[in-house]
Amino acid sequence: MSTTGLPPYDDANIFARILRGEIPCKRVAEDDHALAFHDINPQAPVHILVVPKGRWVSLADFAAGASDAEQGGFWRMVGAVARDAGLEASGYRILSNMGAEGGQEVPHFHVHVFGGRRLGRMVAAPAP
Ligand code: AMP
Repeated sequence: MSTTGLPPYDDANIFARILRGEIPCKRVAEDDHALAFHDINPQAPVHILVVPKGRWVSLADFAAGASDAEQGGFWRMVGAVARDAGLEASGYRILSNMGAEGGQEVPHFHVHVFGGRRLGRMVAAPAP
């Protein structure tokens, strides 16, 4: 259930289908709590998505509803993915889009890990 005013969780969303193994992904890491895979449309030389395995639309849902084990496992994977991609020394960015103004396309909570080049300022210019 969404606690944020966002629509309820949609089991047909693309990340739910990836988690069920219905469509393939280029897997980077997986454990009981989370899955990491390469973004299909990379915006940087490294662009990895980390998704928790639970049915969470937003960070607020995840923070309110996921077990401590799932939350800890998820964030540990985010850190490990960045480290294992060799980004600790050069630096990187994590980002999570939420809802319409956040630009969220896939309504399953996830974090992007970007790296491998200078990433510029934090937020792009407003859309026209
Ligand atoms: P967001 O705007 O944060 O919801 O971003 C969703 C991301 O999912 C985008 O960067 C897409 O390129 C990515 N994406 C969509 N479909 C797939 C897929 N089948 N495999 C990997 N990444 C995907």
